[in-house]
Amino acid sequence: MSLFDGLEHVVRENEPLAPFTWFRIGGPAEYFAEPTSVEELGDLVRRASGAGLPIRVVGGGSHLLIRDSGVKGLVLQLSAPAFSQISVAGNVVTAGGGAKLGHLISTAVREGLSGLEELVGIPGSVGGALRNNADSGSADLGQWTRSATVMKQNGEIVVHDRDALRFSYRSSSLDELVILSGEFELEPGDPAEMTKRMQKLWIIKKAEEPQGRQNAGCVFKDHGGMSAASLIDDAGLRSSEVGKAKVSEKNANFIVAEPGATFDDVRGLIELLKSGVEERLNIELETAIEIW
Ligand SMILES: Cc1cc2nc3c(=O)[nH]c(=O)nc-3n(C[C@H](O)[C@H](O)[C@H](O)COP(=O)(O)OP(=O)(O)OC[C@H]3O[C@@H](n4cnc5c(N)ncnc54)[C@H](O)[C@@H]3O)c2cc1C
Repeated sequence: MSLFDGLEHVVRENEPLAPFTWFRIGGPAEYFAEPTSVEELGDLVRRASGAGLPIRVVGGGSHLLIRDSGVKGLVLQLSAPAFSQISVAGNVVTAGGGAKLGHLISTAVREGLSGLEELVGIPGSVGGALRNNADSGSADLGQWTRSATVMKQNGEIVVHDRDALRFSYRSSSLDELVILSGEFELEPGDPAEMTKRMQKLWIIKKAEEPQGRQNAGCVFKDHGGMSAASLIDDAGLRSSEVGKAKVSEKNANFIVAEPGATFDDVRGLIELLKSGVEERLNIELETAIEIW
């Protein structure tokens, strides 16, 4: 492992990625690293960049589909405590990119800070939620984001203030290699009321999603005010399946991967739904999940 000499304690070779994803699908990463500090992360990134290796970051793996053949290069995960700290100062909550979005939300609510409770039930990390601008339909993470700190491909750390950040439906301007942390400016709220609201939202959200099944959330983005689920329904594709990948009975925009499903099953079903909607409704659906 000469490229990562001295970093053997955080780098593993040929690490299977399936356990890091909600689909439970995906072959090995050539190199997989869980750095324990920002300095170590910078060292890994500079060495991999210098060697021309592709570098990716996996968060909670809740919006990813990974090839059975795996991925070349270095996959990073910010699982160490150094990347998952959450702190509160006044009405501003700061969270590491590796922190769970759910922990950020519960910390804010406990501290009587309102805004993020609308996002209850969205799995994954703060970094993934910032990258994709996680949203609940009525609110998104971007609207509460005051700044974000990122690491670029050359290891340089940059802070983006609110004015430099752009958030839109399920997307953000945060396209640098690693999102290290975010600052969220919230409003005062009553913890008891917020908790009640979260319980309500949680029940509604869970009722609309396949429970206890392997999936990666909404596969497609909504299109021009029409939900992707209703478009799949309208195109008569609700009971489609390929191999062990099936359209969820609860929500046509979710694909459920039965145990033993492969990348090709899920990818095949995505293509089938896309081409079916295009053929029958003349609408081109855009994939929301990321495919590696
Ligand atoms: C049951 C279920 C329900 C869901 N409901 C919703 C919902 O209501 N609303 C919604 O918006 N989404 C929803 N999702 C999708 C998903 O949870 C979100 O997109 C989430 O924000 C992804 O975060 P993650 O950490 O899991 O990202 P991953 O899936 O690990 O990665 C997604 C992308 O983010 C990048 N990324 C992750 N962490 C970092 C980082 N630290 N730095 C740089 N890049 C990073 C990855 O490289 C990748 O490009 C749902 C998913 C599931 C499985």
